Amino acid sequence: MPFAALGLPTPILKGIRAAGYAEPMPIQSRAIPLVLSGRDVIGGAQTGTGKTAAFVLPILARLLEGAPALRALVLTPTRELAAQVETNARDYARFTKLRVGVVFGGVPIPPQERMLRQQGLDLLVATPGRLLDLHGRQSVTFEDIEVLVLDEADRMVDMGFAPDLKRILRLLPKDRQTLMFSATIPPELNRVANEALHDPVRVDLAPPSRPAAGITQAVYPVPRNLKTDLLHALLSDHEVRGVIVFTRTKHGADRLAKQLQRRGHSVAALHGNRTQGQRERALGDLKRGRVQILVATDIASRGIDVEDLSHVINFDVPHTPEDYVHRIGRTGRVDAAGDAFTLMSPEESKDVAAIERFLGRSVPRVMLPDFDYRMRPSEIGRAMTSEPRRERPRPAAPTPRAAPAGPAHGRRPKPDSGRRRRRM
Ligand code: AMP
Repeated sequence: MPFAALGLPTPILKGIRAAGYAEPMPIQSRAIPLVLSGRDVIGGAQTGTGKTAAFVLPILARLLEGAPALRALVLTPTRELAAQVETNARDYARFTKLRVGVVFGGVPIPPQERMLRQQGLDLLVATPGRLLDLHGRQSVTFEDIEVLVLDEADRMVDMGFAPDLKRILRLLPKDRQTLMFSATIPPELNRVANEALHDPVRVDLAPPSRPAAGITQAVYPVPRNLKTDLLHALLSDHEVRGVIVFTRTKHGADRLAKQLQRRGHSVAALHGNRTQGQRERALGDLKRGRVQILVATDIASRGIDVEDLSHVINFDVPHTPEDYVHRIGRTGRVDAAGDAFTLMSPEESKDVAAIERFLGRSVPRVMLPDFDYRMRPSEIGRAMTSEPRRERPRPAAPTPRAAPAGPAHGRRPKPDSGRRRRRM
């Protein structure tokens, strides 16, 4: 079904064409007519499914009718996602006079106050804490809000925003349309949803147990003290275009970024302790190919939309299966192919088992040929300063699809002869 059949007005259809979208994605075909009809909607969708356009397009259509005022509010858990939604909304609205703005924490408040005063926004994208600060300073009023979107609502609740959400809900007009997008509905969110939504229709198209097709997943079993070596070997072995490496902690991200830099990789770090400027620079550098690797904590797993990421690598197994799905959703966007590798130490095998239960299938175990799984810790220091492994002639890695190996620690796998370096 073409976009034109969904009931969207001409200037919005022009914006969609300019964005290069030929056909609606499934969540868009389902959600757009519902949102246009004024219904409240709960969308069970993760990032990467096209959910942003699914709510932004019909909202813009609604805003084209009626007097200019701040009539639509989108709440997101992170500034990266907020910036991403705003960019998309501006793109789709480029053939209209509608004004779109964004506010989030971590940057000075006065420029945002000026923007809100001067620009006469129709749609505001915001993170909850900063929005409440701005409201407390009377820089924004909610009296004209007709549509509210809770984007990645489960993440907002995970991040402790439930009280802020409830406060915001109490400040908004009761008579409004509410849309909620969330990969999961934990009990706390259910309570928020009961308060926020009126007779919602559920649109469940991409449950998180089905990561986008095109992502190749593999688990690399490895002793914990060899993870950095194995990561370095994998990065040297595969043709990587853009990689996000996830660690559990900010400190771990910084440490790993330095270790990779010392081994000759071009790396940036992205986590919650970084200033907004540093975060934007890191993301921009990855997007423009100035750095090849971004080492990030989970804060970065939502809202990042970097074209052409070839790999997501979990240096640490994520805490929850949902985080796993969000992390690996950073690669293989839409129809692209991508690899998602997880480095698993014996201590983390329980977490991987939980992920596999959640996915409803097992992820192949793969061992890297020619990697010395018996390397002693004393050799690690030497390996850290040695040339990248690709300098040594040796066969390349197996593809995860082709070479599921048993997770036999300490056993050296047979090299896979004659394989070419992988390009994903
Ligand atoms: P989202 O889930 O909203 O983050 O969207 C994931 C990616 O899909 C973004 O890069 C969008 O620009 C892209 N996208 C959204 N809708 C379409 C469409 N109908 N056709 C092609 N790409 C799309």
